[in-house]
Amino acid sequence: MENRTIAAIATPNAPGGIGIVRISGENAIEIAAKIFKPISGNSLCESKGYCAHYGSVFDNNEKIDEAVCLVFRAPKSYTGENIAEISCHGGLYITKRVLRAALEAGASPAEAGEFTKRAFLNGKMDLAAAESVMSLISASGKQAAAAALNTLDGVLSREIRSCADSLIAVCASLSAWVDYPNDEIEDTTAEDMLPVFEDVRSRLSDIIRRYDCGRALTDGVDAVIVGRPNVGKSTLMNMLSGFERSIVTDIAGTTRDVVEERIMLGEIVMRIADTAGIRETENAVESIGVSLARRRLERAELVLAVFDGSEPLNDDDFDIIEQCKSKRAIALLNKSDLPLAADREVINSAFPFVVELSASTGEGRNELEKAVSEMFSTNEFNPNAACLTGERQRICCQKALSGVEEAIAALNSGVTLDAVNVCADDAINALLELTGEKASSAVVDEIFSRFCVGK
Ligand code: GDP
Repeated sequence: MENRTIAAIATPNAPGGIGIVRISGENAIEIAAKIFKPISGNSLCESKGYCAHYGSVFDNNEKIDEAVCLVFRAPKSYTGENIAEISCHGGLYITKRVLRAALEAGASPAEAGEFTKRAFLNGKMDLAAAESVMSLISASGKQAAAAALNTLDGVLSREIRSCADSLIAVCASLSAWVDYPNDEIEDTTAEDMLPVFEDVRSRLSDIIRRYDCGRALTDGVDAVIVGRPNVGKSTLMNMLSGFERSIVTDIAGTTRDVVEERIMLGEIVMRIADTAGIRETENAVESIGVSLARRRLERAELVLAVFDGSEPLNDDDFDIIEQCKSKRAIALLNKSDLPLAADREVINSAFPFVVELSASTGEGRNELEKAVSEMFSTNEFNPNAACLTGERQRICCQKALSGVEEAIAALNSGVTLDAVNVCADDAINALLELTGEKASSAVVDEIFSRFCVGK
């Protein structure tokens, strides 16, 4: 257990009903007792764990608030240390004042993620679960939150641990056989090992595939709206975001910079950018907007290509169709409230998904949601199965899968068994890095530095 007792505000820095100051460490309860007096007249120091006390908070003998203090005794707490949590009135001033009083009473300011880091270091949760705490906090949809909660519950860690255990068992018999070839150790054959490696390969591939489906739900999607001027891009942006953000006019070339917005499309968060209409132009300012739009299109994960369904396609439309060819793109035939004049066949053959909609009436929004969900396979996402949270975990899982695949290839080609052992060992190390059993302290520090203070 670390000696330093830490304190931080665990609630957002904004006006609110309740603000929580969390104190954790060996002296947490003694420090809280210096600033919090229960109405019962007893000292907090005598309190048992899992107890709530009503009382007052003092700063230098001046009463600053009425509050409730929760006491947790080590090891039965979030961090595994003694914890006192003072729930005072929320707001920008009071919570800070209570924190200041705790710091003056002997606590040190907590670093970002330090409470959860201590929980990890004290064996309260593994690294995969700790990372899911952050995903849970930042989850913006039901599915993403359910997946993060599952990881926190240990679904992923158990699956990874079980894959690692299978590989460890194979490695143990392999090592015995390699080290003592002349002893009476039962022969380990490729036929015995192959099914184990194949089973682990299929389980790890499933986890990675699921991550790809779930990523749009957990991380969101960078999307861009493109189209020639006047097809209704700004109207669409306003329709999707639910308020007037982009300027809508009949005058071509009005949107020059890139207007960005976070919107929810079904369960998916989209960081969506409305760009200048892409067309050939002599106007210097407009052409800067057009090249910004082209660059944005190149790096987007999803392109929403808007066409005016009420007009025949022109050269600028064909230019956009061409640019979307190498991208993950959905064609939107806008102005569906007017008679269709655009060549739908051309659009159908160029895009995997075509949605007819009217940005001005909102009709077609559900179809767009459905298309996006199918495109990112989020409709197949199962939040109850083992889910990876974040790139670090995906890289570890991918490394483990590569090790297993190399082991299978080595077995099939009849390479010596110690080579198989090396590949399996790499896979085991990658899996243990994922759960944190073998992660370096630099990796651990880097993970927790991404957390917010107070968590
Ligand atoms: P942008 O240049 O692509 O951003 O296009 P705007 O959003 O500024 O829209 C251009 C014109 O098309 C405006 O007069 C809009 O009112 C009109 N418009 C946009 N969407 C629709 C639609 O779904 N139906 C109809 N009838 N008009 C629309």
